[in-house]
Amino acid sequence: MATCEHAAAAGGQTAPMRFEENSLSEVKRVIAVLSGKGGVGKSLVTGSLAVELARGGAKVGILDADITGPSIPRMFGMGGRHAHGLGNLLLPEISASGIKVMSSNLLLQNETDPVLWRGPVIAGAIKQFWSDTSWGPLDYLLVDMPPGTGDVALTVFQSLPVDGIVVVTSPQDLVSMIVAKAVNMADKMSVPVLGVVENMSYVQCPDCGRAIEIFGESKLDEVAAGYGLKVLDRLPIDPALAAACDAGTLETELASGTLPLALAACRAVEAHEVEAPGEAPAADAE
Ligand code: ADP
Repeated sequence: MATCEHAAAAGGQTAPMRFEENSLSEVKRVIAVLSGKGGVGKSLVTGSLAVELARGGAKVGILDADITGPSIPRMFGMGGRHAHGLGNLLLPEISASGIKVMSSNLLLQNETDPVLWRGPVIAGAIKQFWSDTSWGPLDYLLVDMPPGTGDVALTVFQSLPVDGIVVVTSPQDLVSMIVAKAVNMADKMSVPVLGVVENMSYVQCPDCGRAIEIFGESKLDEVAAGYGLKVLDRLPIDPALAAACDAGTLETELASGTLPLALAACRAVEAHEVEAPGEAPAADAE
């Protein structure tokens, strides 16, 4: 069983909570996808990376930690489906191409029910999605983070063995502040930031193909350079992408090569050591 040791490096802010991995899960890499606020396309980037990794033959799961705004199940055509149990473990739902998903939406009676849970209950849900979910062997578990760097994000970083973070921004964001917060959080948790994806970066003119930066010139390059971060990819506003997310057809509709640098950054993350059952806890999970 692997436990997370990163919390020990969190400057002693809070006592580390280590959520244990169950004996039916064998997750090699955990990659968190983070944004400063909701609606910038964090879930779209999470889902797209999952699709591309799975197309490459990897075993992929998505832990939807955006408990109060879950959008992963719908993106994968799982609207209305419910997660089942196996003994005292939950089974993730499995998409057409084999991507495993666990989300609060899969536990609700109706997908339109609001999640009116307070912080500790949300933290409990994250624990269930890690410790009480049978993920099986996974090459990558992508974590669709709650927006921002608040309480729930902290819980995820303290409790799961996160190996890397992809930050998603959009040009209308307060980019410098969001990048600074993400970098500070990552530093405190000793987790590397793999780089930044700028979503809704531009619109491509349907007639001449020119990229139009409707929110003005992006400041991301200089901000990222100031923190020594890589700008991984820029995604245009693409109504076809929004329609595919809505229709639950992202898996089939996503153009190959949509996020090439972010994909390469995820693939470059080394697998963390997974202990054989019965071994003593490892001193460092990285
Ligand atoms: P977040 O996870 O940051 O809250 P989502 O990924 O759920 O954001 O995206 C919010 C909405 O914007 C969704 O309806 C999604 O389909 C749409 N969207 C995100 N990125 C794009 C894009 N590049 N082009 C068109 N629509 C997008």
